Amino acid sequence: MRLKTPKVTIRGIEMGGTSPIVIQSMTNTDTADAKATATQCMELSDKGSEIVRITVNNEQAAKAVPKIRQLLDDSGYASLPLVGDFHFNGHKLLREYPKCAETLDKYRINPGNSDYGSTENKNFEEIIAIAMENDKPVRIGANWGSIDQRFLTEMMNKNAKMIKPKSDKEVIIDTLVESALRSAENGEKLGLKNNKIVLSVKMSVVPDVIAAYELLHQRMREHPYILHLGLTEAGSGMQGLIASSAALAVLLNKGIGDTIRISLTPKPGESRSREVEACKILLQSMGYRHFKPQVTSCPGCGRTESDFFQDLAQQVNRHIAKKMAEWKKKYPRVAEMKVAVMGCIVNGPGESKHADIAISLPGKMEAAIAPTYIQGKFHKNLTGEKIPEQFIKLLEKFVKSCYS
Ligand code: SF4
Repeated sequence: MRLKTPKVTIRGIEMGGTSPIVIQSMTNTDTADAKATATQCMELSDKGSEIVRITVNNEQAAKAVPKIRQLLDDSGYASLPLVGDFHFNGHKLLREYPKCAETLDKYRINPGNSDYGSTENKNFEEIIAIAMENDKPVRIGANWGSIDQRFLTEMMNKNAKMIKPKSDKEVIIDTLVESALRSAENGEKLGLKNNKIVLSVKMSVVPDVIAAYELLHQRMREHPYILHLGLTEAGSGMQGLIASSAALAVLLNKGIGDTIRISLTPKPGESRSREVEACKILLQSMGYRHFKPQVTSCPGCGRTESDFFQDLAQQVNRHIAKKMAEWKKKYPRVAEMKVAVMGCIVNGPGESKHADIAISLPGKMEAAIAPTYIQGKFHKNLTGEKIPEQFIKLLEKFVKSCYS
């Protein structure tokens, strides 16, 4: 069961509690280039990112934040929350650029570097004071790549004196979780409300990130915080997609996580918004959210007339993608529709019965008829050359009659 965390509303987007799991992403433009950054924020939002984070790494970036907001507001994206990502100099930038502090909807800080090189917490305290003044939530994002080295050494030394010392990896995980929780506690002591704190403990290896979030989850059972999930430095392409999905799926399935980001390294020229698509597919395939109809298609095998089958599955997917904007306006519940495109009689009729609308194509040596099913019941056989066109027509009719 999902852990009941506090709830916060960020520019109209609810996060935590029983709210739907929120999708977020981060730009990779130079924030100082307000136009390029605003354009990428819009692209990410169009693809379904509900919150967008931008790095605020220097004075030029801090100065650009109000301009980015203005560009978003003027282009019809006034409801898109903007989060500022701060490291090392966040306290200084937020203090010296009050418009930036006021404009951002949330701050992300790193407990490993907000007071880098100091034994005091002055910078952290300053950021929390500015967040409270502006009524902004703060994500305390611990990351093993920038773990507080002084704190890690302290934990390692303590561990070395134990009768049964833990492995170095276990101590790193303990330190990461402890660092996030101590910062959250300090934030609360300074007056930041519990529902204004979001925590994350990112690592780059799947079993490690799972262990870190599980430990955090266990440690905060009595006093939960909103959780942001992500596998850091997941990589690019298939590797990043699969590693992130593996980590996030395990955690979400255990009821851990209120918001997710899949951090993918884009290939040169690849759109940044692929990571948003990945979040949507992950949440939909786990049944947490519905963004578009789910098309179930079998992988095909030696029994399929492979080109025909693959082509039909693609045509159905393309048709749904093309019609989705129009359908969503007319038939908001259509995103919950399940469509099955099956390759032969082996699993075809069985799988089709679990879908809202389905087609089972004839496999090799089977009679050249394609039975269709509507809401689990046999509807009619399609025959002839134009089976894909006939099925798409049937799909359109079904959407109109069932979801209007
Ligand atoms: S349903 Fe038929 S075509 Fe599809 S994978 Fe199974 S046996 Fe092969």
